[in-house]
Amino acid sequence: MPKGSNAPRQPLSVKKPAKAARQAPAAAPVLPERSAGKGKRKTSKTFGLKPSQRAAPVAKSPKTKAEKQAVAGVVLERLKAEYPDAHCELDHRNAFELLCATILSAQCTDARVNMVTPALFEAYPTAHALSVAKVEAVEEIVRTTGFFRAKAKSLVGMANMLVDRFGGDVPRTIAELVPLPGVGRKTANVILGNAFDINEGIVVDTHVQRLARRFGLTREPDPIGIERELMPLFPQQDWALLSHLLIWHGRRACFARKPACGSCVVADVCPSAGME
Ligand code: SF4
Repeated sequence: MPKGSNAPRQPLSVKKPAKAARQAPAAAPVLPERSAGKGKRKTSKTFGLKPSQRAAPVAKSPKTKAEKQAVAGVVLERLKAEYPDAHCELDHRNAFELLCATILSAQCTDARVNMVTPALFEAYPTAHALSVAKVEAVEEIVRTTGFFRAKAKSLVGMANMLVDRFGGDVPRTIAELVPLPGVGRKTANVILGNAFDINEGIVVDTHVQRLARRFGLTREPDPIGIERELMPLFPQQDWALLSHLLIWHGRRACFARKPACGSCVVADVCPSAGME
């Protein structure tokens, strides 16, 4: 192996994972080989060790597309089993309400948003009603969600555009959603996936970013790049659910600080297990 090369020498069995993937039965995904402790499952005791005390990570970071797809498949199935009720945690009864709630959720917890939206929806149940609201009145309702002046302005502006361009209805494409005030690609994906069951993209929030990186599925620095890398790794019909599963896992186990690797259901395929 040439001196200075970054690529670790690997056994032949993992040198051509794409070929191995074609030959392997569907039930045997091409997971990257463990770098140490082969065949020995790590225990929660092991995960509790400091990095300097650990012999090696549990799983190698997936490098090839086949390896990433294999990790992605295991993660998806395990998290489906772990969180069978995973869903959008913003309370809503229709696409308009979800759009309002998602705009309010920027830099704010879902729980806090759910505290203010009942009053907002009672006062302004439709885009037509919200479009003629006084921004100051909306500010008072959404004040506790933070950035309330900008959010109130976006809500009224969004409602006006819905009325002007779409007869008060919420459109069903990313291209039509992103020009709405307060709406970016992430919000558009939330609306399409949860209000209309349309999987046009993947919601990449802070949890999805963190988990995708920890699984070694991406090294992209921004949400757009991460979404582009994740889409070919997961079945399109699961994209909306995938976001919920990653968000639920991020909130309940894979915390930003001190993730609960010892009890994590995907620790054996996660190259970051016990690393933070
Ligand atoms: S909790 Fe630990 S093992 Fe589980 S996904 Fe997060 S970093 Fe990986």
